[in-house]
Amino acid sequence: MKDRIKMKIPLVEMDGDEMTRIIWKMIKDILLTPYIDLNTEYYDLGLERREATKDQVTTDSAIATKKYGVAVKCATITPNADRVKEYNLTQMWKSPNGTIRAILDGTVFRAPITVNCIKPYVSTWKKPITIARHAYGDVYRDVEYKVEGKGKAELVFTSESGEVTKQTIHEFDGPGVILGMHNVDKSIESFARACFNFALDQKQDIWFATKDTISKKYDHRFKDIFREIFENEYSKKFKAAGIEYFYTLIDDVVARVVKSEGGFIWACKNYDGDVMSDMVATAFGSLAMMTSVLVSPEGYYEFEAAHGTVQRHYYQHLKGQETSTNSMATIFAWSGALRKRGELDGSSDLIDFADKLEAASIKTIESGIMTKDLAVLADIKEKKVVNTENFLREIGKVLDEMMVK
Ligand code: NAP
Ligand code: MG
Repeated sequence: MKDRIKMKIPLVEMDGDEMTRIIWKMIKDILLTPYIDLNTEYYDLGLERREATKDQVTTDSAIATKKYGVAVKCATITPNADRVKEYNLTQMWKSPNGTIRAILDGTVFRAPITVNCIKPYVSTWKKPITIARHAYGDVYRDVEYKVEGKGKAELVFTSESGEVTKQTIHEFDGPGVILGMHNVDKSIESFARACFNFALDQKQDIWFATKDTISKKYDHRFKDIFREIFENEYSKKFKAAGIEYFYTLIDDVVARVVKSEGGFIWACKNYDGDVMSDMVATAFGSLAMMTSVLVSPEGYYEFEAAHGTVQRHYYQHLKGQETSTNSMATIFAWSGALRKRGELDGSSDLIDFADKLEAASIKTIESGIMTKDLAVLADIKEKKVVNTENFLREIGKVLDEMMVK
């Protein structure tokens, strides 16, 4: 056995909840620590720890990401009323991803992991579609108000110099609801640049859509900023690379995406990206095969799986029942983070390991060994459905062979 790979600079490791927390440890034990002398700065974002630290641990982990540049995150529970009861929480803590995104800003890129035995539900799709989701503002940073009865709702802006602008939102005759949301040019600009840079990097077209015909100021601002930045900074580079920037309306783009061949980047506003990434992931086969990376304008990276903590499987696991949870997206979060660490630190060993880990994972599935979620989709004669742990052990066998070469 060769010496284990050394890491010069730590990765920020953000542990999480439920089934993905179980998988997290298994991935480290079975696939990582046998080959790498793992150097991580560990933050436990499990809900108990968030409660104990009044969620300070989440903020600390985001600040550490700014220090070290690369983080890998496990899925975490976003508390709702049920979770407040279940975990006896003193507060309904905010979504960790929301908190991290608010600190790092940036854009989330989500792409499916494709394997030759799983055909997308959309029969025209031949290549992966990457969703670029704006990770700041809109409904995720909103202020909401429940109107109890008659009254007037107004939109008021007070400038720094004290000038007041007022608009009536609605004169309520009875109960209703109000929502106030915002975005800032700076964040939209960095979203646009992140998308254009990523398109150049991947040599793929980029599509963007909003509802600017209805939202004549808010969504229109997104459209204008994208156009200005594209024309001033990117149009020549795009021409040289032979790729295009294409803008249309959100409903139109949905129709076009479904009829497309894939192989492009689809830039989405925050909420659209939330919704559409689940659609794209499912249509490519499984939410368990979708990777996700947050890229900040300063060039900090946070890698994670796109799916949640797989609660239903966790409760089976707690009852002592066997689970067959797919760890692919979490493995690819680790490989993505290790590769980026390798690129930033000039460690070809680390990059090589990340490549092999991904190749071994894909090879395992393509050889017919897979978890339950994929078994129902895979078009392959000899299928062997394995449990959560054995799937990782099977990948480990393939990886072992690759690593001695
Ligand atoms: P989920 O964890 O994504 O799981 C939803 C369903 O999708 C599962 O029940 C399972 O279907 C299938 N699935 C997802 N990932 C899978 C995997 N790796 N292998 C096999 N099947 C998989 O969503 P959820 O159950 O709605 O949410 C659970 C918790 O996750 C919530 O507390 C939520 O706040 C949190 N969440 C966190 C993140 C994040 O940290 N990034 C994102 C989303 C949700 P079957 O049950 O049919 O097998
Ligand atoms: Mg979502």
